[in-house]
Amino acid sequence: MTEIQYISTRDASNRVTASQAILKGIAEDGGLYVPTSMPSLSLDWDTLKDSSYQEVAFKILKAFLTDFTDEELLDCIHNAYDTTFDDAAIAPVKKVGDNYVMELFHGRTIAFKDMALSILPYLLTTAARKNKNTNDIVILTATSGDTGKAALAGFADVPHTKIIVFYPKGGVSTIQERQMVTQAGDNTFVYGVHGNFDDAQTTVKELFADKDLAQTLADNGYQFSSANSINIGRLCPQVVYYVYAYAQLVKSGAIQAGDAINFVVPTGNFGNILAGYYAKQLGVPIHKLICASNENDVLVDFFHTGTYDRRRQFHLTSSPSMDILVSSNLERLIYEMTGKDTDKTRMLLTALKVDGSYQIDLPIVRSFDSFYAERATQDETADTIVKTLTDHHYLMDPHTAVAQTAYDKYVASTSDHTPTVVVSTASPYKFPQSVVGAIEDTNNASDVTLINKVHELSQVDIPQAVTSVLDAPVRHTRVLDIDAMKQSVLDSLGITR
Ligand SMILES: *Cc1c(COP(=O)(O)O)cnc(C)c1O
Repeated sequence: MTEIQYISTRDASNRVTASQAILKGIAEDGGLYVPTSMPSLSLDWDTLKDSSYQEVAFKILKAFLTDFTDEELLDCIHNAYDTTFDDAAIAPVKKVGDNYVMELFHGRTIAFKDMALSILPYLLTTAARKNKNTNDIVILTATSGDTGKAALAGFADVPHTKIIVFYPKGGVSTIQERQMVTQAGDNTFVYGVHGNFDDAQTTVKELFADKDLAQTLADNGYQFSSANSINIGRLCPQVVYYVYAYAQLVKSGAIQAGDAINFVVPTGNFGNILAGYYAKQLGVPIHKLICASNENDVLVDFFHTGTYDRRRQFHLTSSPSMDILVSSNLERLIYEMTGKDTDKTRMLLTALKVDGSYQIDLPIVRSFDSFYAERATQDETADTIVKTLTDHHYLMDPHTAVAQTAYDKYVASTSDHTPTVVVSTASPYKFPQSVVGAIEDTNNASDVTLINKVHELSQVDIPQAVTSVLDAPVRHTRVLDIDAMKQSVLDSLGITR
């Protein structure tokens, strides 16, 4: 197997191994690590269809993370997936109507972030060991709701790590907030911030790039790493379920090996769908990757016009994990669109930071024709929740319903009837207010009432992730201004200067 290395999207001379890229999270120049070449793999569907999720994960991760040994990877995979998911399939694919829904919400926090964040702590601590790293790792994360809790759950009490999470106060669901503020573990720190997700994420990026802060940390035996979706330690594990879903459809006879399928992905930071694009490059027969946005439709405009413009109103919607105006992982696709020109990528992303926008020639964007982009309003999303329940007895969360709505529009305008997998990124139990509210007047019902209602409507057992959060004590209560985030990092680590 050829060794795959990783280079920064902003500087091709910044070249590291997979384990180093996982440790660093983001490159020093602000760029994201991308593989120097796509692994060449033979995907034998006859074998893959009978492989467990863990077996598929081993095949894919081995191809991307070439400086890890087989033993190291197997250890990470089994720690991540053997016991913390409530469905043995890990990512079950269910038939809903004429198409399929892949449920990525069977992990500890009942949302798709668990798919990668359950394995990242193990990849990270293994990477630290491999690189003879003696500093403790400090995970710094801005979250639009789901990453925070999934990272907290993944890292809690993992030796030689600390995790600090910032979430937009008022910008996440009450269940999401409760999940985070009740997080146990002596190494966990959670802060609400006055601002939206983009404000928090921008500051986190600045803290990562702050050389003075890095030195202070190093002097105290710490170093930053990122659990955000820009880390290749999250991206690569997400490629796995695209391969797995395809294999499951072959196994069930829904398709023949080699037939093309579509995936519809509810998109925010562009990490999930980018993993789908990598899966296509590995050889999964994917026709379209449908990028679904809510009213924060900056990506839809980008795919339709070639202009990425973040200077627009920010909407708080019923699908908060997609309330994002700066989709960080898009940088990896921009790098491809520039013909892997790191100078050009750097210039474009600098323009985004300085001027608020950049432009790619429309014919180039169009030539990336695996992508199709469509938006859904909150009203349309609510209607889709009702319709899917009525027609197919399947209760979707609002993020999944954004995807389903985008897909329905896609079919209406293209008449493409390729078998399609809607990627379901959260359990309806995670957003009971919006889900029940789509169906009936909730009259300020309590969370417990709403959760019982979700149970009644979905006929799905209440996940333990929900019951355990309802009665856990609140441990994290601080709310900060954006410009106090840096000091809160020092405080969390007990550093005075
Ligand atoms: C994070 C998240 C998304 C968006 O995924 P990206 O990889 O950021 O595009 C969609 N839905 C849910 C429920 C999420 O938690």
